[in-house]
Amino acid sequence: MKALFYPAWDRLEMRDVPVPTPRAAEVLLKVLAAGICGSELHGFKIHAPRRTPPLILGHEFSGEVLVVGPGVTGYRAGDLVAVNSTISCGICDACVDGDPHVCPTAEVFGTKRPGAFAEQLAAPVSTLIPMPADVTPLQAALVEPLGNGVHAWSMVRRRFPETVVIFGAGAIGLFTLQVALAGGAGRVALVDVSPARLEVARGLGAERTLNARTDDVLAGVGDFTRGRGADVAIDAVGAAATRDLAVKSIRKGCECVWLGLHDDATTVGGLDIVLGEKAISGSFAVRPRDLHAALALLGAGKIRLEPWVKTFPLTEGVEVFTQLVTAPPDDYIKAVLLPQA
Ligand SMILES: [Zn+2]
Ligand SMILES: [Zn+2]
Repeated sequence: MKALFYPAWDRLEMRDVPVPTPRAAEVLLKVLAAGICGSELHGFKIHAPRRTPPLILGHEFSGEVLVVGPGVTGYRAGDLVAVNSTISCGICDACVDGDPHVCPTAEVFGTKRPGAFAEQLAAPVSTLIPMPADVTPLQAALVEPLGNGVHAWSMVRRRFPETVVIFGAGAIGLFTLQVALAGGAGRVALVDVSPARLEVARGLGAERTLNARTDDVLAGVGDFTRGRGADVAIDAVGAAATRDLAVKSIRKGCECVWLGLHDDATTVGGLDIVLGEKAISGSFAVRPRDLHAALALLGAGKIRLEPWVKTFPLTEGVEVFTQLVTAPPDDYIKAVLLPQA
């Protein structure tokens, strides 16, 4: 089968590789669509040890069951599925507590085990979610990044915040924007450094956009919130600077969610948090319930993928991935590879 293979640091190539054999409690899937994630682009760029080659990347995908392995019940050949990118142990404290996404021994497709930038892949049956009839394979491939937005929004305690500021108009930021609007946010402002991305955000319902390169962000947030500060800020970048701005954007007694993964070390004002009774929640990956909610939002037509998600045949994977790493295009934000095209 064809795969977009990552043989060594800084290299990618289309290669013929053996079709995997499903082990016990696994199925062999035909990959129908697989999104290229920012974490993979970033990991490729910085040689992240989490994704050490040789490897096949890809963890956001949908598929069709081709073969069921030994001991699999509940699925058969021909079933269409969305997939949880995280494979958890099921028995540790986190898993038993209903937090399998933070299972300490969790594996992710395309890290230690082969990912979805290939025609086929073997997946544990525990990761599968039946694809609803009103959801397309392209939509189903995006439940994981959309689920990240659902998960981040689920951290927000205020159910109907008047004003929300989201930092980052990449895929996660744009999904979080749409989830927030579907989930009770009154008015949302988006902050990014790309005019093209901010334009997309306005098309998806952001009432105000701020360019962090050219605008005074905190003054803009002040204007957007009539001088009050935002009820909620969500940082979908993860830079030290955006985390700090998120904390400064909210008013006293309000809350931030951090889900971007860009930097580790971060400085925020301790007195601002204590005296302002500000809360910061971390948000990582998804719970299974977030994926089900994401599928429901997609099926209900509440999440727009136009004009910012673009599909390419898997055979163009090297060019597309390289372009996204080196010079992200202005005409789309998220690339999805179609291995069967
Ligand atoms: Zn991802
Ligand atoms: Zn576990």
